[in-house]
Amino acid sequence: MKSFSTDAVLLRRTEYGDYDLIITYFTRSMGRISVIAKNAKKSVRRFAGALDPFIAMNIECSLPKRRGSLPVLNSVDIENPFANIRTSTVKTGYASYWIEIINSWMEEGKPDEAIYDLIFNVLDSLNRGKISMEVLSVLFQIRFMGISGFTPNLVGCGHCGIALDDIRQNKIRFDLASGKLICETCKLKMFGKTTFSINETISHYPVTTIEKGITVSKGTLKQLSWISSIDIEYADRLKFSKTALKEGEYFLEGFIPFHIGRNMKSLDFLHRVRNIYAKVIS
Ligand SMILES: [Zn+2]
Repeated sequence: MKSFSTDAVLLRRTEYGDYDLIITYFTRSMGRISVIAKNAKKSVRRFAGALDPFIAMNIECSLPKRRGSLPVLNSVDIENPFANIRTSTVKTGYASYWIEIINSWMEEGKPDEAIYDLIFNVLDSLNRGKISMEVLSVLFQIRFMGISGFTPNLVGCGHCGIALDDIRQNKIRFDLASGKLICETCKLKMFGKTTFSINETISHYPVTTIEKGITVSKGTLKQLSWISSIDIEYADRLKFSKTALKEGEYFLEGFIPFHIGRNMKSLDFLHRVRNIYAKVIS
């Protein structure tokens, strides 16, 4: 029987019948794949502790005999269990959100080593705990958009082309539908005197209507553009102001699900646990 092995990060698992589990992985050499773990529900020993979310491992699978069937998971060799993530609710919240982005966006069977390295490194950093979760999340989202090719243009008005520095207002509206910044002059031309609440996106997930946008300050936009060029290993040198970090997170957590076109359950969870966490540490 033909088999294959690859490095993989576990994205999700679902029950299949009385005995089996279907495991979805993001793998280094095959992209997102689903495999079947036979008897994994019944036999605790077989894959003991290796089928939890976020774990990075090397997997060995048999190719299916029939077309349309799933490969069968034969063995797993844990590379990093990332155990500190699962013991922290807020870390679990962040990791679940990143994993859902990967699971929603990456196509079945289409490898992307840069994305694989990105998710592995960001989970590794989250597990080690040296870099703040918020910085990691902003970094992950920015880099993910960059590699996937949907980075929004944040250097100026996407309609008239005026540069960020030449826009008079400090708070600038980002229109989700067009994926562009819109200066005050263009906004007036397009929307008349409609006023938009700054927090409209923050309080109303998911963003569904085309009028929806996010208001972001210049400083945050500049920092977001700047960090898209930073390697994750230098992330601990990034100095974000509290406001920029918060605004950056809200902006990305509004834009990415909107662009992917999906309401992310993990994001509701992240918002809940992050609020509780913020109250605890303040
Ligand atoms: Zn403009």
